[in-house]
Amino acid sequence: MPQKVFCNRTLNMRKIKFIGLDMDHTLVRYHSHEFEALAHETMKQRLVATKKYPESVLSLPFDFNLAIRGLVIDKKKGNLLKVSRHGAIRASYHGTKPIDFPTQQKLYKSIYIDLSDTTSYVSIDTAFSISVATLFAQLIDIKDAESGAMSGVGTGPSTIANALSEKNPIMPDYETIAHDVISTLDMAHRDGSLKGEVAKNLDRYIIRDPEVVAGLERYRKHDKKIFILTNSEYSYTKLLLDYAINPFLKNYKSWSDLFEFVITLAQKPRFFYDNLRFLEVNPESGLMSNFDETLRKGVYQSGGADKFAKDLGIEGDDILYIGDHIYGDILRLKKDCNWRTALVVEELDEEMEAYKKAQPYSAEIRTLMDRKEPLERTLVDLISVKIETGREADENKVHELQTQITELDKNISQLIKKQQSVFNQHWGEIMRAGNEESYFAHQVDRFACIYMAKLTDLLEMSPRTYFRASRRPLAHELALGLS
Ligand SMILES: [Mg+2]
Repeated sequence: MPQKVFCNRTLNMRKIKFIGLDMDHTLVRYHSHEFEALAHETMKQRLVATKKYPESVLSLPFDFNLAIRGLVIDKKKGNLLKVSRHGAIRASYHGTKPIDFPTQQKLYKSIYIDLSDTTSYVSIDTAFSISVATLFAQLIDIKDAESGAMSGVGTGPSTIANALSEKNPIMPDYETIAHDVISTLDMAHRDGSLKGEVAKNLDRYIIRDPEVVAGLERYRKHDKKIFILTNSEYSYTKLLLDYAINPFLKNYKSWSDLFEFVITLAQKPRFFYDNLRFLEVNPESGLMSNFDETLRKGVYQSGGADKFAKDLGIEGDDILYIGDHIYGDILRLKKDCNWRTALVVEELDEEMEAYKKAQPYSAEIRTLMDRKEPLERTLVDLISVKIETGREADENKVHELQTQITELDKNISQLIKKQQSVFNQHWGEIMRAGNEESYFAHQVDRFACIYMAKLTDLLEMSPRTYFRASRRPLAHELALGLS
């Protein structure tokens, strides 16, 4: 069986007593293309209706491939950036147009940005990363077209510029656009309108997977207690669980038997560091009442991690929590509690398939690099001797080496283009930025003990599995061949 669960920090499943599950996009998966398209559409309508964006916004098409998860929005400059683990910009777009390297260097002075500068940068790694990044980029195009049209300079796509009549309101600045897109999505999320749409079309948005239910029932046989910790409210939680869990149960009557606790409106990540009161939810009526007793099997709202672990008489590292959102699900959890963490990275399967397709190119690149490196060393030596001794170098030899290196570089860069083309056409891989890890991959590495494409990848494994992190070579160990 191919390996499907990847381990950053050693995790012994035998020691795990409780398995916590985020619901949306973890326990219950969504059809992402449909769901992101819905978010894109909802944001557009709201921006026009409530923030007075021009009506041309409504006709912006949704293109799922325009963005990938983990990009960074530069709110001030109207750019999308792909950033490495060290904060180096490895690809950049202004609106939907790529920025070439010399322009990028002029704009940013250095290739490094400070991601802790939240007034400029926002990293988008949520379930809505594609729709947010895409719409932001498209709105920047409209803003530029409008500015161009107003100043008489035709900078933007003429169709968009033409679509703007003088009566149309003026687009706000880049920073406001970023803020509006994000806050509009937040609002649509919070006031239940997105979920309302999903609820009306469950077939269209929700994936039903009997394997999830079979896997959870198997884990119960090993006496692993399972709970849900979701930011969704009870009525939506019930709707999804009734739809995606109940029809496939074999050993239990209902999801409320299968799950020890279902904690709704949990306000993650606040749940992990604050101590809000638990409310008890009546599963039949949905009515809530104050609850100050010791937690017992049931449905709750709100609450906090501290009381949860205390009441259950367990330590943080007896719990494995599985979620799909770095910030909401695992970052604060890792920093504030010592629960073990697992991250679902939906794109992982596709990315690994693409690695396989890219393999022939990667191999060729390595061969050419192996040829190039000795040439570079010889050239360095020749020129060093010239500088240090004042003796003339063999100019023919220098020229020949330079020509060979340039030729190899040309081939290598063509191969890199081919290699990247099997991944997202605009942004390449999600987990890598050039030779380095992407900032997203770095976050996964830091905060997730294990990670996988979907919950069933873990549930297929025995609940007694010992996940071992492999030893990672440091640069000097690699040089010694000690890896
Ligand atoms: Mg989620």
